[in-house]
Amino acid sequence: MRKAKFAILGAGIAGLGAALGLRERGEESIIFEKNSTSGGLLDSLIINGFIFDKAVHLSFATEPKVREIFDETPFITHPSDSYCFDEGRWLKHPIQNNLSKLEPDEKVRLIESYVARPDELPIENYRDWLYHQYGFEISEKYPIRYTRKYWCSEPQDLSITWVGNRMRRSRLSEILYGAFSEQTPNHYYTKEMRYPVSGGYKSFIDPLIKNSIIENNANIVEIDTVKKILYFESLDPVAYDHLISTLPLPTLVNSIKGAPEDVIFSSQKLKVTSMDLVSVGFNKKIIDHLWFYIYDEDIFASRAYSPSVKSPNNCPPGCSSIQFEIYSLGDVGIRTKEDLMQNTIYALHKLGIAKPEDILFMEVHHISHANVLFYNGMENDRDNVLNYLKSQEIKSCGRFGEWDYLWSNQSLLSGYRAAIEL
Ligand SMILES: Cc1cc2nc3c(=O)[nH]c(=O)nc-3n(C[C@H](O)[C@H](O)[C@H](O)COP(=O)(O)OP(=O)(O)OC[C@H]3O[C@@H](n4cnc5c(N)ncnc54)[C@H](O)[C@@H]3O)c2cc1C
Repeated sequence: MRKAKFAILGAGIAGLGAALGLRERGEESIIFEKNSTSGGLLDSLIINGFIFDKAVHLSFATEPKVREIFDETPFITHPSDSYCFDEGRWLKHPIQNNLSKLEPDEKVRLIESYVARPDELPIENYRDWLYHQYGFEISEKYPIRYTRKYWCSEPQDLSITWVGNRMRRSRLSEILYGAFSEQTPNHYYTKEMRYPVSGGYKSFIDPLIKNSIIENNANIVEIDTVKKILYFESLDPVAYDHLISTLPLPTLVNSIKGAPEDVIFSSQKLKVTSMDLVSVGFNKKIIDHLWFYIYDEDIFASRAYSPSVKSPNNCPPGCSSIQFEIYSLGDVGIRTKEDLMQNTIYALHKLGIAKPEDILFMEVHHISHANVLFYNGMENDRDNVLNYLKSQEIKSCGRFGEWDYLWSNQSLLSGYRAAIEL
């Protein structure tokens, strides 16, 4: 039987980071990846000469190790300006700090409610947190509606362990200023975003892919952790000494021979959102926005970005592109391709950015794992699974291996650290 001293499951950035960590220790590893190409969520979609990423991907990595790798690739730096679309209005992000275009009575209603927000409320879930931060009216008008589209959940069912610096904690002075003036400062959690000059976001990890040994089309179906053997759908079994996995925890547990019932039960409770990506190519330039959020419920997408604004090299000269992100709870999409495309045409019209005759093509791709869901109590289920994996000597890392809301730089370091700690 073939043997790999160090086997890594998954050739996303975390698996590639693990291979890098091992290389730096002078060890060779083999990465087994189920897809025919590598990169995982950072892989590109190439359609009619246009390059799309899998959802908005821009880098704001600060860690020297990550910068050392990403900076090998020439990049463009963008200011992190983003926008929000709600009921026919384009407002700057974060929306509660940029209310100037609203009618006066609406501003008064929102700000009055902000001032009266509950201070002493016990914060037991994300809805409490929102009321506490923004007051009832702003919360209901903006982030709660957005939560239903992006997380496909009610805010009271979510915890706040994922929030970190992702949500702007507002001050009265900022809200008041933005209610009077459109000249507001950028409050995004990072001031600039980097993106490769050519080849899509994946170019940042091309050096890692080139230097790793990767077996593609290697779909893991069973792991015998006692005999230390990996079984694949269409590849001969491989024995291993050390195993690093970046597979989603439920997928991993499901493949482990003899996993205990309680661990299987916990892993089955872990939920993700999946996304349908509608990628659209246009025969002319249509928008300058790098990315934007959509609050309207009749538009399926909660977010969109323009690959051609990220880099003009993402499409042929004179053309442009947009990709819409539409989320579903669970790893299977809930809408048909036909509905997704119809709604995208409607969205382009409602957003006022393109007509059907501007469209060159439209393609739908389903991504089964987008974000891990932070339902209340998720951490207990996750810890139960992670403790079991430890007992089986499997190092689990990456966004779906740590089961956390990791950016690409954090996923890289998660894999890198797993290799160093082995
Ligand atoms: C909507 C969205 C927007 C994002 N935007 C940004 C951003 O702007 N900036 C940023 O830095 N980060 C962003 N991220 C985060 C970033 O995409 C992730 O942190 C990172 O790509 C996760 O890498 P990973 O290797 O952990 O997981 P993945 O990329 O999911 O890699 C796991 C790999 O395992 C493989 N696999 C699964 N099952 C099997 C099996 N049975 N056998 C073999 N292989 C298998 C998969 O095919 C995949 O290649 C975003 C993520 C999402 C979802």
